[in-house]
Amino acid sequence: MLEFILKPDYQHKPRFTLDQYFMGRLDYENHPEIKQAAIDLLERIDLLFTTYKGTLTLRSGYRSPEINSKAGGSAQSTHMIGQGIDIADNDGKVKAWIKDHFVLVTENKLFQEHPSKTPTWVHLQTRPTRNNPFYP
Ligand SMILES: [Zn+2]
Repeated sequence: MLEFILKPDYQHKPRFTLDQYFMGRLDYENHPEIKQAAIDLLERIDLLFTTYKGTLTLRSGYRSPEINSKAGGSAQSTHMIGQGIDIADNDGKVKAWIKDHFVLVTENKLFQEHPSKTPTWVHLQTRPTRNNPFYP
């Protein structure tokens, strides 16, 4: 199991907390599998962006099936099981940085939705996507 606290060299503030990720949409203490999936996801996000200097803004974390449906999300969306996250990217800076550091996405076992499908955000998930990796 991956836990932030078990890594002795892991001292910086997490990019996103569990409370931020769940957005008040789930009592995650009563859903240990989803909570653990989110811990794993958020740790990988932290490791991916260790050297990224900018601020990351959460656009969408956990979604209940109802919220996901209203948001037009896929019926199999990883947002509903704690395995997917959207980071705001109105100016494309996060996408550009990821493209330049794509090896870190792979190393941290993250998968990105194709950027052409996420014009103002970046979607990352811990479950493989069909079309990732797509950068040369
Ligand atoms: Zn997403």
